[in-house]
Amino acid sequence: MSTTGEGETPMLREGSALVLFSGGQDSTTCLAWALERFERVETIGFNYGQRHQVELMCREKLLIKMRDLKPTWDDRLGKDHMLDMGLLGQISDCALTQEQAIAFSQQGVPNTFVPGRNLLFFTFAATVAYRRGIKTLVGGMCETDYSGYADCRDNTLKSLQVALSLGLDRSVVIETPLMWLTKAQTWTLAETLGGEALVNVVRWDTHTCYTGDRAHKHPWGYGCGECPACVLRKQGWDAYCQASQQ
Ligand code: ZN
Repeated sequence: MSTTGEGETPMLREGSALVLFSGGQDSTTCLAWALERFERVETIGFNYGQRHQVELMCREKLLIKMRDLKPTWDDRLGKDHMLDMGLLGQISDCALTQEQAIAFSQQGVPNTFVPGRNLLFFTFAATVAYRRGIKTLVGGMCETDYSGYADCRDNTLKSLQVALSLGLDRSVVIETPLMWLTKAQTWTLAETLGGEALVNVVRWDTHTCYTGDRAHKHPWGYGCGECPACVLRKQGWDAYCQASQQ
């Protein structure tokens, strides 16, 4: 785990951002978005005993590939913080952390939901950002295709931005560039930010599948092809390809 330097003065750096970076499609696109906009970009990841540990293994390789894509991105990409959130695995009982089949409740919420996960992630990220003098937090939450996760909603995160700013007595900005994009538009955004090279990094080096499957290769990347995350990713890729051909 990285440390943030105990003796550092947390001077606020306007041009810096901390990206919640899991190694998935959405957070990788957000990282590219941040690298285009901020002079200094740091990343944070959370290990909470999730079944798709493979996602975390993709992270380091991805960070190297992102550096290779553009010299400016290499210059801007700073420290990676990896937090051990094993406690979250202990207190939640769901299909991401336990050996259960993925299913949906009557409200349409999948049992992959870790209650309040993003609230915790952003709060821990804000603490790290405070110590690093970083004002902006970036996350890949999305309301358009979202799977019923209340902590991904725009209003939830706007409220959290206010709560964190008050609680830290410092302006905290939460940026969610994918909030109103479809999955197809997220692929288009990746193309706009980093061309076909970034699209290919997202296809082959990010991981989204809930079951951690890296054995089955599809046009949209690796995964089981059947879990909700794979289905969304496939639908988004298909729609993006259709739109590209028109
Ligand atoms: Zn899958």
